[in-house]
Amino acid sequence: MRREFIKDVLKRKDFGTEITVAGWVRTRRDSKGGFSFIELNDGSCFGNIQILAENSLHNYTSEIVKLLTGASVSVKGKLVESPGKGQSVEIHALAVKVLGFCKQEDGYPLQKQRVPFEKLREVAHLRPRTNSFGAMLRIRNRLAYATHKFYQERNFYYLNTPVITCSDCEGAGEMFQVTTLDLNNLPKTVNNKIDYSQDFFGRKASLTVSGQLEAESYACALGNVYTFGPTFRAENSNTRRHLSEFWMIEPEMAFADIDDNVRLAEDYVRYLTSDILEHCSEDLDFFNKRIQKGLIERLTKVSEAVFKTINYSNAIDILIKSGKTFEYPVKWGIDLQSEHEKFLTEEYFKAPVTVVNYPKNIKAFYMRLNDDNETVAAIDMLVPGIGEIIGGSQREERLDVLQNRIRELGQPIENYWWYLDLRKFGTVPHAGFGLGFERLIQFCTGMQNIRDVIPFPRTPNNADF
Ligand code: ATP
Ligand code: MN
Repeated sequence: MRREFIKDVLKRKDFGTEITVAGWVRTRRDSKGGFSFIELNDGSCFGNIQILAENSLHNYTSEIVKLLTGASVSVKGKLVESPGKGQSVEIHALAVKVLGFCKQEDGYPLQKQRVPFEKLREVAHLRPRTNSFGAMLRIRNRLAYATHKFYQERNFYYLNTPVITCSDCEGAGEMFQVTTLDLNNLPKTVNNKIDYSQDFFGRKASLTVSGQLEAESYACALGNVYTFGPTFRAENSNTRRHLSEFWMIEPEMAFADIDDNVRLAEDYVRYLTSDILEHCSEDLDFFNKRIQKGLIERLTKVSEAVFKTINYSNAIDILIKSGKTFEYPVKWGIDLQSEHEKFLTEEYFKAPVTVVNYPKNIKAFYMRLNDDNETVAAIDMLVPGIGEIIGGSQREERLDVLQNRIRELGQPIENYWWYLDLRKFGTVPHAGFGLGFERLIQFCTGMQNIRDVIPFPRTPNNADF
């Protein structure tokens, strides 16, 4: 079937031309004069195209008047200037071919009235046909495209890192185990432990929580690389910003320090916001009106902003001096909780802020130890409404310091043999970070719940569809 995309048709002015469109009926109403108006959407843009179908069409009474919300049709017709308000063009149908009815008795769940997001999650297979999820996915798509554009323009190579991993050295979160052992009949060793040598990979394996360590290996050969892949965390955290399966973008740069890292993170976030402001204005208008007032203004500010960077120690001072009582008391050494992040970005700075140089005890072993021996060269970017969107660091490139950190944490050093090799053989300063793709989309759309910015969310007790 040769069909035009509605997004292109809506911009055309060559009235009188015959064209074909196809999509799903959003609404249909009869008019007294013996014709129907059909609002048709094909997902190519936020807007619908209006179809005028007259009763002279051969299937008018047998089919067209039976079209309900959700039905699918293809329409051949003439492009005409629309006399009605709200659209500049419409199509006068020469033929309406019904592809699929939506029968009343089958109970299509997406009727004209708005369905709450909680309810839509129960019909995650149909929710892409709503305004909100169409707009969300188009923005998600654009942010993915802009991500590749951004890194490709800056000489970063795109790298795929493994989803299944045997290195438990990542420590970024609880892992999902991958096994083909018979759980009802587990093989045991002489010490009565599970014998993983009989498992699929000959050892215990899991789904990755981050591609960073593997990305470091490629950065320490090709210079700049980035990953963009799924990551998995088995944390039992039921919050509006945690998923069990989410997508992360992880750039890694050789010959780079913490300042380069902060600069890259800021450039990247600025680039993304200005890109969608330019390319997704119609969808952003919707979120701005219906989901979060002031969204576009906030994104515009971010796209032009010089970001704030502060030391962790200063952030702690600000929190203490704020005079606020936090649920989780503030003192030097604590990990920032979401209430603290909220205060810093939403009340104090009223802008994104990058907090740097955290205490080593609350951060991962691979972060570079600062000269004070107390803090590491970590960076976390916090944004209003979400909190942490980026976490990263300059990596420890000194073999002896890295070995000491691993020993300090009581970890078996032999697990890290290949990671230590990167320091043994031609080590270089390098740095990188991870940006949570769904948190970014929350930030860019104002959507409250992370379950509503990914097509099919996985969270504790939920892996439907
Ligand atoms: P948080 O403290 O917010 O749970 P984290 O410090 O555990 O996050 P990192 O290990 O630093 O997260 O991961 C890098 C980025 O991945 C985070 O900045 C965030 O944007 C995103 N992220 C982390 N965990 C999740 C999750 N469970 N669901 C969605 N995104 C996540
Ligand atoms: Mn983090």
